[in-house]
Amino acid sequence: MIIVLRQGTVQKEIDQLCNVITSMSSVTINPVIGTDLTILGLIGDTSRIDPTQIESFHCVERIMHVAEPYKKANRSFHPDDTVVDVGNAKVGGKKLTMIAGPCSVESEEQICAIAESVRISGASILRGGAFKPRTSPYAFQGLKYEGLELLKEARAKTGLPIVSEIMSPFDIDRFLSDVDCIQVGARNMQNFDLLRQLGKVDKPILLKRGLSATIEEWLMSAEYIMAGGNEKVILCERGIRTFETYTRNTLDISAVPVIKRLSHLPILVDPSHGTGKRWMVSPLAKAAVAAGADGVMIEVHNDPQRALCDGQQSITPDTFDGVMKEIRLIAQAVGREV
Ligand code: PEP
Ligand code: MN
Repeated sequence: MIIVLRQGTVQKEIDQLCNVITSMSSVTINPVIGTDLTILGLIGDTSRIDPTQIESFHCVERIMHVAEPYKKANRSFHPDDTVVDVGNAKVGGKKLTMIAGPCSVESEEQICAIAESVRISGASILRGGAFKPRTSPYAFQGLKYEGLELLKEARAKTGLPIVSEIMSPFDIDRFLSDVDCIQVGARNMQNFDLLRQLGKVDKPILLKRGLSATIEEWLMSAEYIMAGGNEKVILCERGIRTFETYTRNTLDISAVPVIKRLSHLPILVDPSHGTGKRWMVSPLAKAAVAAGADGVMIEVHNDPQRALCDGQQSITPDTFDGVMKEIRLIAQAVGREV
């Protein structure tokens, strides 16, 4: 339930209203002061709340019922776009966020060289997998903690904030001290224990869409994190399973306007995993920005042929530089900045 308050409502009136609500029910009340509206978002069992009694308060403009199961992630709970700070970068808002880096961290030279080139091209966050969720147990699994150390070196050299994927709730403390943003990969989007633990921390979470997740399931996963108190959630569309086999996944560009309508959370697009083909990265990165995404996440490797993971979808730093130039043009056309 959402209670929209009249403009000019003072804190004393809000306190009185909240006291009446809590005397009727054990809901939690989330006040949101937006640019145009001040609202109280009620989460929990609202069946005992008498709307006529609430409406009798002078400060109440109207009551709305939220049909969707996600509340904190719901645009109606938070009409303004959320902007999430990731180190010195911002995700959401007018400026696009360009995340670039290798699928996995392989060596100090590799990650530092890629970080420096993508920084010069205009990337604002460095990505790099240290723990890799591979389909085969015999495939390269990542450098693990050493990979996190190398990412920190690359951050120290370039100033770029870092994002890396977590696989186990046991590593949360380590990720909290090492990275600027914790990535939850597609395969863990419904690892509810992990999501619940990440809801208790003060760190941005980049939540990728599950391999076969509906948009509502994805938003419910965001809700798991937000319900615990961590509202710094960034969504990332990375393609879904369909009957099509030509591409690794089917990149659902339509998810961008849908998320913008349903939620206030920022949304990025990953055209690398979304297509699995390096020559498709540029057109779909541009499509994502044109559709209103808040940025893109792109796999960049200095030597894609020899990459230990996802070389076929990785572009070189030079190609990334060209993609950035093209994205700048699209950004300008849709009123965004890079
Ligand atoms: C990744 O970004 O490295 C990754 C494994 O992506 P996804 O979880 O989307 O497959
Ligand atoms: Mn990858």
